[in-house]
Amino acid sequence: MAVTRLALFAGPFGIRTCRLPFWTGLLTIGCTGFTKTERAWAPALRRASMSGGPGADPAASLDLPPYLKNINFCQQCGAKVQVRLPQNDSVLRPVCTGCGTVVYINPKVVIGSVAVSEDESAVLLVERTIPPVGKWTLPAGFMEMSESTLDGALREASEEANVVLDAASAELMCVFNIVSSSQVQILYLTKVIDTSRLGAGSETSDARMFKWADIPWENLAYPTVRLSLEHAMKTFLPARRERTGMQQILTLTKLADGTFVPTHLTSQK
Ligand SMILES: [Zn+2]
Repeated sequence: MAVTRLALFAGPFGIRTCRLPFWTGLLTIGCTGFTKTERAWAPALRRASMSGGPGADPAASLDLPPYLKNINFCQQCGAKVQVRLPQNDSVLRPVCTGCGTVVYINPKVVIGSVAVSEDESAVLLVERTIPPVGKWTLPAGFMEMSESTLDGALREASEEANVVLDAASAELMCVFNIVSSSQVQILYLTKVIDTSRLGAGSETSDARMFKWADIPWENLAYPTVRLSLEHAMKTFLPARRERTGMQQILTLTKLADGTFVPTHLTSQK
């Protein structure tokens, strides 16, 4: 299959162009238009600073997005912050009026799994007890500090459905760019290896392995759940059965001498 998609990845080693295989989903949902370049913001900030009196906050009169308006105090020293265009920056950010600390606000990362049975005939879904209550979803949640994306996906399945997933069978399946809510969702395809304790967790009222034909399509929590399930069922799983090759999912640990070593590796076939 020659169909491929190109994507840019920004990482600790710079920006890379990657050729994605056709079975990998890469989707962008929504757009805010909030992020403006330095050139676009500078005149508005200048006008605002001229119209205000001494000590006035020049950004106070600008139509800022909530994530900028809702930060009031510095986490380092507790002084008030004001929205500014930091030197050599291109994005408005809260800056502390006391210690000068710049507050960087970045997107949230959600990690999760399309977890299938050993024979791939069924898929794990959980029923939510937090909004939207009663809807079925994939085991997923916000990534925690100091964990890898795959470890996070395994943790969420354990917390929400009391199952153990097979890390060695995991493959990166979907990346959702939900620009409108500044969120990135990373979904793995994995297999469930222990269902002996399958059942509700702290944020769920039920957890079940659904046959593909029995998925409650009309009662799913989010569009990304439907898209992930459809992608797994129609494209990713069939392609996975046919193809050979290897995918690497690495967690890099920094050693004392500054070098990085891979501490977790998942590969296929
Ligand atoms: Zn401060």
